[in-house]
Amino acid sequence: MTADVITIFPAMVEAALAEGVIGRARARGIIDIAVRDLRAYTQDRHRTVDDVPYGGGPGMVMKPEPLFRAVEAIAAERGAPSAVLMMTPQGRLFSHEMAVRLSGLERIVVICGRYEGVDERVTAALVTDEISIGDYVLTGGELPALVVIDAVARLVPGVVGDAESVAGDSFVRGLLDHPHYTRPAEFRGLTVPDVLVSGNHAGIDRWRRLERLRRTRTRRPDLVEDAALTDEERALLAEIERGERETSN
Ligand code: SAH
Repeated sequence: MTADVITIFPAMVEAALAEGVIGRARARGIIDIAVRDLRAYTQDRHRTVDDVPYGGGPGMVMKPEPLFRAVEAIAAERGAPSAVLMMTPQGRLFSHEMAVRLSGLERIVVICGRYEGVDERVTAALVTDEISIGDYVLTGGELPALVVIDAVARLVPGVVGDAESVAGDSFVRGLLDHPHYTRPAEFRGLTVPDVLVSGNHAGIDRWRRLERLRRTRTRRPDLVEDAALTDEERALLAEIERGERETSN
């Protein structure tokens, strides 16, 4: 997979993508992420990327020409992009399902807005997906772009060393993850559930399945309704519900 991020703050984006799991995957050539400085695609002496809005009003708007040139240069270099993402609070709310879909694509281009946003003709002519990371407004699309790229890249095979760790994460099978503990077994009087230190793998497995269901049920009942539960999970869920009825009686 290749991802090209178009931004006026390349250092900000590059810094985040150089670290951790994503940084290692880039260094090993598993994913190829390039951060593009939008100003490199301007043609005037001042390297202008914004202008005043037609119709007046506060703030500035990102000009179309540098963005068109940037996307066209990337397409010429890499081949036509599979998707061009625009980060915008007006887009579709980003989700695990969207990350899964994007992780299967070959070439992604991500546009980070600033100021009041981007000239609408960019969206109309170039963008395939408008994506929001939540119902709040940020000062720029860089953090949203990083959120999307991070979530997508970790689903690309080989990026996270242990594929099982991704398979167990929240949302992957429609449920939240179970709680995690590490050593020491007792810390300031706080203990780890007995079963986890028992060495009984079947017991541990069962505890984890039970806790995923319990957690999801209390925190995100909407997810339990949509989840494709196995027969065993349905039985565990019934057990949890029985247990709760008993304690409330
Ligand atoms: N005037 C715009 C907001 C501009 S914020 C509006 O009200 O819709 C400046 C830039 O930050 C946007 O162009 C977008 O790229 C980014 N941004 C801000 N909030 C975002 C969010 N919740 N999700 C994705 N991108 C966001």
